[in-house]
Amino acid sequence: MKIGILGGGQLARMLALAGYPLGLQFIVIDPDSHAGAAALSQHLQGAYDDPSLLSQLAAEADVVTYEFENVPAHVAEYLSSHTTVYPPANALAVAQDRLLEKNFFQQLNIGTAPYAAVDSLADLQQAMKQIGYPAILKSRRMGYDGKGQVIIQSAEELATAFESMQGADAIVEGFVNFKREVSIIAARNPSGQIVYYPLSENRHKGGILRVAECKSGDPLQTNAEAYVRALLEKLEYVGVIALELFDVNGSLLANEFAPRVHNSGHWTIEGAETSQFENHIRAILDLPLGATTARGHAAMVNFIGGLAETRQLLNLTDCHLHLYDKTPRKGRKVAHATIRSDNEAVFTESMQQLVAIAIEVDNS
Ligand code: AMP
Repeated sequence: MKIGILGGGQLARMLALAGYPLGLQFIVIDPDSHAGAAALSQHLQGAYDDPSLLSQLAAEADVVTYEFENVPAHVAEYLSSHTTVYPPANALAVAQDRLLEKNFFQQLNIGTAPYAAVDSLADLQQAMKQIGYPAILKSRRMGYDGKGQVIIQSAEELATAFESMQGADAIVEGFVNFKREVSIIAARNPSGQIVYYPLSENRHKGGILRVAECKSGDPLQTNAEAYVRALLEKLEYVGVIALELFDVNGSLLANEFAPRVHNSGHWTIEGAETSQFENHIRAILDLPLGATTARGHAAMVNFIGGLAETRQLLNLTDCHLHLYDKTPRKGRKVAHATIRSDNEAVFTESMQQLVAIAIEVDNS
């Protein structure tokens, strides 16, 4: 059985690592000659929309999935008409467009920050009468890790903020004064089985995820599960999904969802009975999904733009290192490390040391 993946970065790499014990093979398309998953798969080097590579992928793979959501609609369409593609194309279409995504949340009674579509400066001026300051203007498409976003503090900044979108369709959102950011990762298979991971509590800096910690038994777990179940069922979704949420004094507002395995779920490799990567593979092959129960305390720290010595990291108690085989470059995620421990004091101590090391080598 062969799994095709659009994208051959670290997510594809970790999917392949999870698929080997199940006897699976992998084929990926990635333009980078040194793609992170290349060593673990048949690598088709070239553009994601190269027709000859897509036709080879569709012919060789039993099922195709992807590691990023900005897959062009015509590529998803082509692949879907030649082979099985999961998650489904409608989930991609919604997740690619912040306006459709927010409308979809509203339709499912999932709370969001107040928002409005912005196609002109007049739209923005009008919307700000309701939304109030501060607010965030975001491009509707192609945004990730806080890119294509600008905070607006006052009416004087409206014109400059609008210009910074450079004509791209946008939405404006009220700035949420959240207590914390959390995400829920869940998986659904074609038979309709759904599993939910414990909430992950996420810390960002500069729009980039830095730390994600498993929060087993969180009081907002039930609420988050209801939200993500609504999404999974409405989309007839197959695969792993990540829903990012703001905790505003105990109520949840949805920010966005990712139709793929997600950085805030990397701790599940060591910290849950079955990792998000294995469950994604099980889901797209319509296999029974594995238990998502947490194994003690677990949290993950990203290495951005710089790496620490392997020896230094492995010297920390209960630390597990995942190198992505990427050359460090400013702002680039090159590795993550997870602390997993049954002992809370050991966990806390190791996490403090790990975070300090990650900050020291950070180049974001
Ligand atoms: P996004 O690209 O939408 O995931 O945004 C990146 C990060 O910006 C989020 O993880 C939040 O930390 C912050 N952010 C995005 N939207 C809002 C908002 N409406 N209010 C406050 N912070 C936000």
